Parts: sequence; C-alpha cells; structure tokens
Amino acid sequence: MPDITTMFFDLGGVLLTNGWDRASRRHCVESFGLDYEEFADRHEFVADAFETGRMTMDEYLDRTIFYRDRSFTRESFRDAMVAESRPYPEALAVVEELAASGRYLLATLNNESQELNQTRIDRFELRRYFTTFLSSGFLGVKKPDQAIYQLALQITQRGPEECVFVDDRDLNLECAVTEGMHTVHYDSPGQLRGELVGLGIDIQE
Ligand SMILES: [Mg+2]
Repeated sequence: MPDITTMFFDLGGVLLTNGWDRASRRHCVESFGLDYEEFADRHEFVADAFETGRMTMDEYLDRTIFYRDRSFTRESFRDAMVAESRPYPEALAVVEELAASGRYLLATLNNESQELNQTRIDRFELRRYFTTFLSSGFLGVKKPDQAIYQLALQITQRGPEECVFVDDRDLNLECAVTEGMHTVHYDSPGQLRGELVGLGIDIQE
C-alpha cells in the first residue's frame, strides 16, 4: 500500500457539530418564535444555492426569514445561527496531532455555505490544523457530487491511493471510494485513531 500523504476531513459531525442541519435549523428558528415548517419549505428551495456559493448569507436570510417584517434583527438571527456550532475537542486533538507531525497535507472537504464555513474556520481556529479548505461554498459543487472529489485530487495534486477521506456519512464515503481514495467512516475519536493506524499513519492509538 502506498504511503498516505494526504487527509481530507469532513467538518460537521466529525470535528464540529453540523453547522446548519435540520436539528440546528429547527432549534434556531423556533427560538425566534417562527414556524419551522414555513421556514423549512423556503430553506429547501434555496439550500443548494446557499451551500454552493451561489447565494450569500444575506440573500439566504432574505428568502427564508426576512421576506416579511420581523421583531428581531438580521444580526441577532445570524449570531444565533453561528451559536449552533460547537467543537468536538477530542476529534480536533486527532488532527492537531497529525498537523504537529508535519508529515501530512491536511484539508477539509465539506458541504457548507461560504460565510458560515468562514466563521467556523475563524472561530474554531481551523487554520492551526489545515492548510487547504475544500468547502462546497468555495468550490461550487458539493458532496456527494463526484466532481468535488476530483477537484480535491486536482487541487492538491495527489493520487487517490495516497489519500484518506474521513466523513460520517456512507453516501459521501462511497463516492470517495469510487475515486480510489481510502476512507474512514467516522464514529468516535478512538475509532478514528485506530483506523488511521491501520492505514499506516503515524498517530497514537
Ligand atoms: Mg458530516
């Protein structure tokens, strides 16, 4: 097996909570006293554009929340959206250890709108670990579209056999396997360490 040189990490459900998934959307929207179903209908229509950088945060909020007068400000809603995100320290400790070894190219590969992704990169200081951020909001395509995995290989100039992709969803992993990458279905920090060791990666089990 060729040596692993490169690791691509999903963020939501692996290193951080999901930034804006169904549970966080419902929690946030209902905390402002809004009807979740009405919001969810609108969200479904614009989510793809929002996550692939074709719609800004302001445009998204105009279409899903501020299409009528509200008793709260845009800033307060945006702050509440961001506050839905939490780090998973034990999982981040794994990438911190990988980064400290200096042996691997570490990149994110995740589906997220531009502004929320940028806010999470800043807030959780992800530049400490990763040198490259392959986010759907930047690239204009999202998982599980095959094109995002091909872009990841082209941008990093790596062969799939030297890459590992870590994600918490089977569908996203299947497409990486199709490209010939190694994959880890993330379940817990300890399981991740064990699987990385199994792939010949130098990390404490
Ligand atoms: Mg995920």
